[in-house]
Amino acid sequence: MSQNSKIEWTDMVWNPLRGCSRVSQGCTHCYAERVAMRFSGAGQPYHKLVQMTSQGPKWTGKVRTVPEALAAPFGWAKPRRVFVNSMSDLFHESVPFEFIASVFAVMSVTTRHTYQVLTKRPERMVEFFKWVKDGEGVFDDDAISSRMPKDIPWVPHHHNTRRGGYDNCGPGFPYENVWLGVSVEDQRAADERIPLLLKVPAAVHFLSVEPMLGPVDLERPMPGPDLDQGSGAKICQPWYIQSGIDWVICGGESGPGARPMHPDWARDLRDQCAEAKVPFFFKQFGEWAPGENCGGPLKRTEQVAHWFGDQWCFSTLTPSGSVGMHYDDEPTVYRVGKRTAGRHLDGRTHDEFPEAK
Ligand code: SF4
Repeated sequence: MSQNSKIEWTDMVWNPLRGCSRVSQGCTHCYAERVAMRFSGAGQPYHKLVQMTSQGPKWTGKVRTVPEALAAPFGWAKPRRVFVNSMSDLFHESVPFEFIASVFAVMSVTTRHTYQVLTKRPERMVEFFKWVKDGEGVFDDDAISSRMPKDIPWVPHHHNTRRGGYDNCGPGFPYENVWLGVSVEDQRAADERIPLLLKVPAAVHFLSVEPMLGPVDLERPMPGPDLDQGSGAKICQPWYIQSGIDWVICGGESGPGARPMHPDWARDLRDQCAEAKVPFFFKQFGEWAPGENCGGPLKRTEQVAHWFGDQWCFSTLTPSGSVGMHYDDEPTVYRVGKRTAGRHLDGRTHDEFPEAK
């Protein structure tokens, strides 16, 4: 239900839900599906939530709430960064709003922890906050207590310590210790998800551009009217990156079938963040890396990928067939594995975090 995490931008994961379903290109090689498959036997936590197909493990689409996991954060004495639902999506369409509200209630009273909630379903996140706003009493002490399992050490008065003041969304939001983010694998996902993310109240709004499958331009205007209705004057909408994005994580894909990330896409995203003074965290290159991360003369036969402007072209290079070939001579990226590919972008790591507002 919870465990220390190897994910570089968090300390631990907390899973009050299990199961999911694929929603976009970024889900094609879902890591959680593969992990779940290992624990899907009868009597195991992911039984009937994932199944083996000819393309590998795949979610069945069923999602199970785990009420007994709600108590876990109360037991962690040390402040942690907590990634919420690494094995699901809190805003999956099958998760009742009442349960999501219970998760938020726990986060609101365990203020020593910082919670990082990442979704590919921001439209449902927007719906949730509308439900909170419209649903009188959703966060009343009595309402919360009635939803909580009996063993939760619930302290009703504490949940009023949240910061108030968000003008259009519910009681006491944003919570100072809750960061809300969307996964953005390409420009299409960015255009669909970022405007929705920026509608919800959060201490930190963040993007996880991982697996990065294409360039992501954050210097494009937010959707909105071109002309002011009253005066008819032209309105210049602010760029995404200027509109309240507080943190950007970037990374390439790892694991079986991983797709390459072009180093220039990551560089460009880094530079956009630097220009806008938005903290940038480079998590990993993933399975594929540019030659500068591999180093020296070609050591063995390598799979390589060239980018031709709109698609990857794959081939192999062998030391004997490419006498004197160095890794950094030509192809865009080499399949050298996550460990060798590493976390350096242009020779250094980028480990910036946001300051909560
Ligand atoms: S939303 Fe996340 S957990 Fe769900 S299928 Fe996609 S990658 Fe996997």
